[in-house]
Amino acid sequence: MAHTAWQQRIRRAEHLAAQHPFAAEILAFYIHAARFQEGLYQRLERSSTRKNPFSPLEPDLPELLASFPSFLAVAEDKAPARLAQVAHDLCNSHSNSWSDMLTHCWTNIDSPADPQGFLVLAFLQPYAEFVRSRNPLQLDGYTLSLCPFCNRKPALGVLRQQGDGGRRSLLCGFCLAEWAFRRVVCPGCGQEDHTKLPVYTAEELPHIRVECCDACHTYIKSIDLTKNGLADPLVDELASVPLDLWAQEHGYAKLHPNLLGM
Ligand SMILES: [Zn+2]
Ligand SMILES: [Zn+2]
Repeated sequence: MAHTAWQQRIRRAEHLAAQHPFAAEILAFYIHAARFQEGLYQRLERSSTRKNPFSPLEPDLPELLASFPSFLAVAEDKAPARLAQVAHDLCNSHSNSWSDMLTHCWTNIDSPADPQGFLVLAFLQPYAEFVRSRNPLQLDGYTLSLCPFCNRKPALGVLRQQGDGGRRSLLCGFCLAEWAFRRVVCPGCGQEDHTKLPVYTAEELPHIRVECCDACHTYIKSIDLTKNGLADPLVDELASVPLDLWAQEHGYAKLHPNLLGM
């Protein structure tokens, strides 16, 4: 029986939430958000048969504004307290300010400065994934660390089996583009000296690498699928919160926060 990528992510999140109490709250919200995101993605697929291809430059506001209130309702009901409050405030704000806010979050590639920005990005994520899937990427010879589709910094890395080792790629947390990137190079500053690029793993989460850079003091987590083929990069990254706390306590800043703002 075929499952959509969303259903696979939800199943993985349910599995990890049961295994890791430290991530249960965040994954519980993720599961509800992902169900909403899947619904939005399917609505976009249906409406795209009637319309021209969606433009990567400007979001389709009527389509998005129609779905935004139901996303806010999910967040108000299911998100951790701080995000739920933000959703509540947005619900009660003038809906004519929403267009500007959605457009701003769509075009601004820096990580949001506040929880509201993360909430809006989580809402827009399936839309970004959908638009990217309708606009083929030319990845031949692409070597940069920024997302080749939306220009954002990567939210995580992925190691996939290739020959005897693992090939690294980077994953955009917004449009979910994935592109190859050399393994021993810092995606933050381009540092190539391996002595300045320490990698840490924890015994409890052996398939998650915390890849640090002692030149620019950033880190990115990479999900090693050669060690755990059942992992879902996006979900396993979200679930490994203790590693973020550890890295940040040791003076490293995350290259780009994930959609839940961690
Ligand atoms: Zn992207
Ligand atoms: Zn660096």
